[in-house]
Amino acid sequence: EKFSDFGFAAEVQSALDSVGFEQPTPIQQQAIPVIMEGKDLIACAQTGTGKTAAFVLPILDKLVKRTGESKGVNTLILVPTRELAVQIDMQLEGFSYFCPVSSLSVYGGGDGSVWEQQRTGLSTGADIVVATPGRMMAHMAFPYVNFEHLEHLILDEADRMLDMGFYEDIMAVVKQLPVKRQTLLFSATMPDKIRKLAKKILIKPEEINI
Ligand code: AMP
Repeated sequence: EKFSDFGFAAEVQSALDSVGFEQPTPIQQQAIPVIMEGKDLIACAQTGTGKTAAFVLPILDKLVKRTGESKGVNTLILVPTRELAVQIDMQLEGFSYFCPVSSLSVYGGGDGSVWEQQRTGLSTGADIVVATPGRMMAHMAFPYVNFEHLEHLILDEADRMLDMGFYEDIMAVVKQLPVKRQTLLFSATMPDKIRKLAKKILIKPEEINI
């Protein structure tokens, strides 16, 4: 199989051509069609399998193909650490080089200027926000955060987020999102607590094991 079989928008395909990705990895082969169909997804996949591109590419494709102007935050990606947030944001920047799509990372720590930068970005309404749950929750106390038009929620490394004690923050954030949305959960392991979390926030998910 080749990336060109997915029928991505030219803007997305051009970015793949630029970085020289031709063949999707197994997680990409299985996850991309499910995500493009709009279904919820639970994917058991380790780091290094290409899981980031597996969700970034179809989301960018949808954003390029949408009609009308952008309305606030379209996609929220929750991650356990600042390092992962920055890493995903960098992949987003690369893959969206030819797309009219904006992204923003939101994580804890830093001085007041970091908070201000995040506040400005959230007020402007980036298309894609990559955030750690605690800092996201802190910003959501203010009216400049608008998830009214959010269509996609992605939890990356969900097991690590729970290990780090983010369960309450995740649930508090999710409670403020539209119920009608597509939710994707990626996790390296599938312990009971992940299954329980999935039951609460996903609807009839497809399951993939890599
Ligand atoms: P990840 O599992 O998302 O951390 O990705 C691991 C590494 O694989 C990253 O450096 C990606 O840039 C790279 N990668 C992802 N998908 C592909 C692909 N289809 N072909 C070649 N490299 C890829």
